[in-house]
Amino acid sequence: MKSVFIFPPQWDIHSPSTGIPTLMGVLSEMGVECIGYDLNIDFFNYILKSKYVIEAIEKSKKIIENADNKYTQEKINYIKKNLDKFHKYKNIEHSINQIDNISNLIKDKNSFNNYKAKAISQVFFNTALDILSLPYYPYKLSANSFCNIKISQKAQDDYSCFKGISEDKDLNIFLEYMKYKIPNLGIKDGDLICISINSTDQILGALTAIKVIRKMYDVKIAIGGSWIDYELLSILKDKELFTQYTDYCMTGLGEIAVKELWEHHTGQRELKNVSNIIYFENDNIYQTKNVNKLNKKVGKYNYNGYDFSQYFMNETVLPIKVSYGCYWGKCKFCDYNSNKIYDPRSVDDVIQEIEELMKKYNVKYFYFQDAALSPKFIEEFADKIISKKLNIRYLTNLRFEKVFDKKLLKKLYKSGLRIAQWGLESGSPKILEKYNKGIDIQTAVKILKDAYSIGIFNHTYLIFNFPGETMEDFMMTIDFINKYKREVKSFAFHSFWLIKNTYIFDHPEEFSIDPELLKDKDFLSYSDICDQTEKEKIVIAEKEKLNKSPQAAIYRSLGGCLTLPMIDKIPLKYINIIYNYEKIKNKLILSLKKLNKHK
Ligand code: SF4
Repeated sequence: MKSVFIFPPQWDIHSPSTGIPTLMGVLSEMGVECIGYDLNIDFFNYILKSKYVIEAIEKSKKIIENADNKYTQEKINYIKKNLDKFHKYKNIEHSINQIDNISNLIKDKNSFNNYKAKAISQVFFNTALDILSLPYYPYKLSANSFCNIKISQKAQDDYSCFKGISEDKDLNIFLEYMKYKIPNLGIKDGDLICISINSTDQILGALTAIKVIRKMYDVKIAIGGSWIDYELLSILKDKELFTQYTDYCMTGLGEIAVKELWEHHTGQRELKNVSNIIYFENDNIYQTKNVNKLNKKVGKYNYNGYDFSQYFMNETVLPIKVSYGCYWGKCKFCDYNSNKIYDPRSVDDVIQEIEELMKKYNVKYFYFQDAALSPKFIEEFADKIISKKLNIRYLTNLRFEKVFDKKLLKKLYKSGLRIAQWGLESGSPKILEKYNKGIDIQTAVKILKDAYSIGIFNHTYLIFNFPGETMEDFMMTIDFINKYKREVKSFAFHSFWLIKNTYIFDHPEEFSIDPELLKDKDFLSYSDICDQTEKEKIVIAEKEKLNKSPQAAIYRSLGGCLTLPMIDKIPLKYINIIYNYEKIKNKLILSLKKLNKHK
């Protein structure tokens, strides 16, 4: 008896999500046999082949013929319009035949010397996905999302819309793949199958996998992942989810749920005593006690079953985690301030894991998944990496602490730090104080300048529309970004969300938020909380400008861990070159001849 972990499509195609390796780490520490499958990345490798693109075109033509009078005129018109568009592209047939080469080029380590080819191949990659999605209209797969393009994101958050099509071969792009793949996963009757879902984009992939598994094997199925917590209130009412699909949903800290669920699976614990799960019994849905504190340190990730060569990256970048929680843990908008205990692993333990991964997978790029590494940890880490002469490059979140002076930053650079991601949140001292962020603008500026001068790529996180944020506060953030655009190489911003387990959620009155608004809610968006109409127009205009900036484009197109191998090979002052290649996407150059010429 074993546990099989499945990560369904659609999700990021560049690096593994860490949910499954974390849970497999917990079970393997208990001596449980477990294996994980990233069916997301496997699916993209499977489908991005010229034969499937040609098949999709043929299917689309048949739909347009509509011989059985089966399809709506609207679907036919959409497909026809898009097929016509694709056929207008220069060399389309030739290019389709080269799709396999394009996938290889994206993964080619040497294509760092060939950014233009890389950008063109990226365009090609997205076009192939557009064609592959055509017959399944209105469902559309891209490298960034899977959705029903006819309905809003909000409507799709009601995941019921995906249940109806999990066995519909005309609408479900994942069905054929799952029928081919599931019998090859080594599942046996009696196994515990855990399916990890992080977002709505993965629902259809997950439900399809479950339907196929259920038809073939007598197993128990648990779904977990951050999506469960977002949809908790709906799941608690959804009997069909339990009668047709899953046996259990794991909530909150999956590390606790999976351990105790395995104990139940092997007869060592009653189901009602398993923490952090939802189950169905005697026509009722039950939620067991929520344990949100872990009395253990972070364990090592277990990648049994993973094939890193499948990811669409030139280099493998692997995650490392030092602790749950945050050493600061006092920001009032953040749930790290209450439910996750900060208890870091030792530096030696972390370095030992890095050495093992370097040896086993021949990798040198790592990203720390921690909310923020403490100055004490990172300095000791850097000292030991330097003295051991380990050739690594890494990325981490850090806080703007005064202790990060030029001397320390130089040492961190020497040890391999290339990207520092800083939580600035706001350029307004007043808002930083309301957040209880514990940082000041002057220190932030000094650190950003010093880090940039040494060669460290600075990324910052920003939050807009905090309740009580005035136009003046908002513009202070915009001014900060504009003033320090040389030092801040990329940024990501989002509007304020009020989430559970935060100080603000528990003390809404202190922030002039009506507590009634929070009743029966897991989260609120800024527009649910306060009327922003007065500054809305300016905020939208400024956000649009930010979105067009190189810094936003870099993060959007590359993200943190994708940027790491790239900036290891390009001097920081040339980093905007990456942004220029994003612009190429608009031109849609599909000729492989041209592509090879630039190789
Ligand atoms: S926002 Fe960042 S620094 Fe603040 S408590 Fe959360 S994780 Fe820690």
